[in-house]
Amino acid sequence: MSYPTPIAMRSSLKAAQLEIDWDDDHKSIYSHEYLRVHCPCADCRGHTPDQAKVITGKENVHATHIELAGNYAIRIEFDDQHGTGIYAYSELRNNMCQCPECKTD
Ligand SMILES: [Zn+2]
Ligand SMILES: [Zn+2]
Repeated sequence: MSYPTPIAMRSSLKAAQLEIDWDDDHKSIYSHEYLRVHCPCADCRGHTPDQAKVITGKENVHATHIELAGNYAIRIEFDDQHGTGIYAYSELRNNMCQCPECKTD
């Protein structure tokens, strides 16, 4: 099993998006809104799938601070005062990538 590792991250407030370059040559793009709506923290997701909140109205939310969380994830703070989401690299790379190649919906 291989673990995806970012080699570069660029977050733009202007474009409201985060780009991650991975060590497998893949390049991911996520809008800040998408990251906020899919925040993986217990508050947003609940403890079971049926407790997950539907988060809306985040079109104008920006990621204001991104920091490493251990060596497997990043923590993202948003300007709607929410900053408890820890985004695992494997989730970001394998399940959340919004690049044209991966995006399915
Ligand atoms: Zn959350
Ligand atoms: Zn992708």
